Amino acid sequence: MSADLRELVRGYALKNAVKYGGRANVGSVMSMILGDHPELKPRAREIARLAREAVEWANSLDPREQERLLRERYPHLLEEPRREERAAERGLPPLPGAREGGVVTRFAPNPDFVIHIGNARPAILSHEYARMYRGRMVLRFEDTDPRTKTPIREAYDLIREDLRWLGVRWDEEYIQSLRMEVFYSHARGMLERGCAYVDLCGEESRELLRSGRACHTREREPEWQLEQWDRMLAGEYGEGEAVVRVKTDLSHPNPSVRDWVALRIIDTERYPHPLVGSRYRVWPTYNFAVSVDDHLMGVTHVLRGKEHQVNTEKQLYVYRCFGWEPPVFIHFGRLKLEGFIMSKSKIRRLLEENPGKFLGYDDPRFGTIAGLRRRGILAEAIRRVILEVGVKPGDATLSWSNLAAVNRKLLDAAADRVMFVEDPVWLEVEAGGGCLEAEIPYHPDRPERRRTIRVCSGDEVGLTRQDASRGEVRLMGLGNFRVAQGRLELVNTSLDYARSRRLPIIHWTPRRGAVPMEVLEPVELEFRVHRGYAEPAILEYGPDSRLQLVRFGFARIDEVASGAVRAFYTHP
Ligand code: GLU
Repeated sequence: MSADLRELVRGYALKNAVKYGGRANVGSVMSMILGDHPELKPRAREIARLAREAVEWANSLDPREQERLLRERYPHLLEEPRREERAAERGLPPLPGAREGGVVTRFAPNPDFVIHIGNARPAILSHEYARMYRGRMVLRFEDTDPRTKTPIREAYDLIREDLRWLGVRWDEEYIQSLRMEVFYSHARGMLERGCAYVDLCGEESRELLRSGRACHTREREPEWQLEQWDRMLAGEYGEGEAVVRVKTDLSHPNPSVRDWVALRIIDTERYPHPLVGSRYRVWPTYNFAVSVDDHLMGVTHVLRGKEHQVNTEKQLYVYRCFGWEPPVFIHFGRLKLEGFIMSKSKIRRLLEENPGKFLGYDDPRFGTIAGLRRRGILAEAIRRVILEVGVKPGDATLSWSNLAAVNRKLLDAAADRVMFVEDPVWLEVEAGGGCLEAEIPYHPDRPERRRTIRVCSGDEVGLTRQDASRGEVRLMGLGNFRVAQGRLELVNTSLDYARSRRLPIIHWTPRRGAVPMEVLEPVELEFRVHRGYAEPAILEYGPDSRLQLVRFGFARIDEVASGAVRAFYTHP
């Protein structure tokens, strides 16, 4: 019977005593222990004996003493319920094999593009799990393919900005192209250990591997391999003439796994890297760099899409070669946002082929994080839908109306309400020669913040065409009017009157001070343009303000220039 086990059981007895007013109970101590440590089930009898002993001991202590001991000796048991609460709050299942303070996650984007809602998922989940277990999160830019996944200089910052906006915080940051020596030394390590070889057979190797054979250099001894490696580094081979391959099972059912390429030559005179130019010619592949880095950075849990499952299999060969303990890999399904273009190559093509048509990566017609932000989607809405799909392995499609519904709920409470009249009809007000004042709160939940709009007889007021044809209406906050012969005749200002007559309560704007406004509504790859005028108060809001345009929908102001406003329509 180990002393450790006795300690463990005593800890639970204290915890149970503290939780239940100073008196622990053997049965509930037992179920706590076996719930947290299912691996101990085979030793249940022994534990039962220890539990009886420990409960007796715990119950003999003064409650204050119980608390003090629990705090001092078993602080990890204090944390436990808090972590469960934190998990429940996020709706995420616990991470297998995770320990409080011992979790390291990472988000590893390729800076060849900005991120979209699909890549935001591993970012947000990695962040949430790191926080949930009070661990660390690493941000790592994977930019070791200057030829086919050419990194873009601005993408590093754009990705950082998107992540910050999403509320993702990282504790460490790395850029792989600045760590080339690390990959070189590990390549050497693999060759020395006989886990990798320099393949000089070029194209022929593919054929060979397809039939379960390999280049003859696979059999050469490590000394020869290292010599070739040095020649690769010295620039003696051209692109495709020499590659380093990892030795795998040559009969692996998936031919792409067989002796996969770990490092290759890229002619960086032709394909310079945006950060390191032509300084390196030998580049690690994603699979090699990721294995080395996940290990060196102490990553304990890799959260990624299931499209990486085969990569995981490849990466395990590197772990085996060095005798490293692999992290826990969690693969989740794909997340698509219905009706949005998210593919890097498609967006890039659209931008290139239609100069002037699209506004950039952050065009609200794209499903990029920046595009959604520019449209008026809140980071919290994205976080919520991603936590909702969590780490589920099945593919999921998020419809726009789904995302909009989550966003609307958040915005409805937060966004000020302002009047915008599309394509207005201007009508002269007749109020018996006098003036009226409308005092309208910006939000019904915050009645103290309000603006006053003064309208006098003879002034013009804009209504939508449809509202202008209604006969009798209530202009929000102002009064009840009859629309007759192109004029608005005041009936009275009583709200009860409006209610009893069930008058439509409509939005409007005074002509004086009205602000020209354009609201662009994304419709697939086009914009439907809504032109009109907003009430003067709209100028209190600058770019990036999210508003509810009364009876029109939610919008985000994008630009305010020379007294005119341009906004994007978010959703109804
Ligand atoms: N750079 C890889 C990607 O963006 C990382 C994948 C991973 O290993 O999680 O797909």
